[in-house]
Amino acid sequence: MVTKAQLKKLAKEYGTPLFVVDHDQLRKNLAEFKKYMPKVQPYFAVKANSDPAIVRTLYKAGASFDVASIAEFRTVYENIRDLPPKARQDFIWDKIIYAHPIKARDTLRELEPYKPLVTFDNEEEIRKVKKYAPHAGMVLRIKVPNTGAMVELSSKFGADPGRAVDLIGKTHAAGLVVEGLSFHVGSQTTNFQNYVQALNLAAGIFKEARMRGFKDMKQLDIGGGFPAPYDANVKPLRELAKVINAECKRLFPKDVAILAEPGRFMVATACTLVAEVIGKADRDGKRCYYINDGVYHTYSGIIFDHCKYPVKAFKKGPTQLCAVFGPTCDALDTIGLTEELPDLEIGDLVYSENIGAYSHASSTWFNGFPPATVVHIHE
Ligand SMILES: *Cc1c(COP(=O)(O)O)cnc(C)c1O
Repeated sequence: MVTKAQLKKLAKEYGTPLFVVDHDQLRKNLAEFKKYMPKVQPYFAVKANSDPAIVRTLYKAGASFDVASIAEFRTVYENIRDLPPKARQDFIWDKIIYAHPIKARDTLRELEPYKPLVTFDNEEEIRKVKKYAPHAGMVLRIKVPNTGAMVELSSKFGADPGRAVDLIGKTHAAGLVVEGLSFHVGSQTTNFQNYVQALNLAAGIFKEARMRGFKDMKQLDIGGGFPAPYDANVKPLRELAKVINAECKRLFPKDVAILAEPGRFMVATACTLVAEVIGKADRDGKRCYYINDGVYHTYSGIIFDHCKYPVKAFKKGPTQLCAVFGPTCDALDTIGLTEELPDLEIGDLVYSENIGAYSHASSTWFNGFPPATVVHIHE
């Protein structure tokens, strides 16, 4: 836990905007995941927050990784290879999955020596992988319902479940091995039925594929989507885990290894942003505050992630309805139009909690404002 006093002290020491990463909370999130889903190996989805220190901490605590670009692969590989247990040539793919169904040719060429485990969802990709990374293991990504997820992911990727066994056959015919299936139910999935439907679709495909003699089908990758507790309406992971564990047990043979790719769940609650009021105005009867971080920076999740981050003050006192804007010249740079804040002065600090996922990762240098400084605590 990071206290308010600690946040203020850190902001004084490092300046603002400051992105505070609490490694105790990272370990706690991973431990919670493992506790409630002991049969599911978590592969942290690096895109949620690719900070190398986060990768190292999660690795040491027993996580594996999901990467989706060659840069993410290098971030993981270079940060874990010197940590025990020592990497063997092929060991690395027990710890990393390349879970992007569309891979550039250069990427495949660079990955080939590592005998990667990669996802795919179409025939063009089979030909590409065969040509540029023939030693890759293949995991077929299927399309599943993303109903009610905060971030929809099914319109861009995923083979039609009805075509899955045919695609598995074509992959084998091309001389590649399909090792399993993957799906993603949509990010911040609070509708647990998405997992139930996806697991049932996957089980049907597994059964048919094995019946047709594709005996290498040994992995089930249940993707990400595990919701972060942004507010009290989000049911705890424990309840989702119960649903997933029961369905996995009912639907899949014991020799199927199950992995997941939690991104948001691991990092969202582990980071806090501290910013500073740099301007103040009353417009149309409404108090407006301008702070030194915004939607082109740590608050980027407001745009890309459809997420809300309440702005809180350290100062006490009667509050009023305010607008809070970021530092750039763009009106899009709006953090909130209905924030409840006390009367603040220029130089006062504000903060937003649970801002660790899809935030700093998509920060830009727009308008000449740099991304927030990152500080790690309890590392
Ligand atoms: C984004 C992504 C994840 C992580 O999703 P969360 O909802 O953050 O858990 C996992 N797997 C794949 C393939 C993704 O694209």
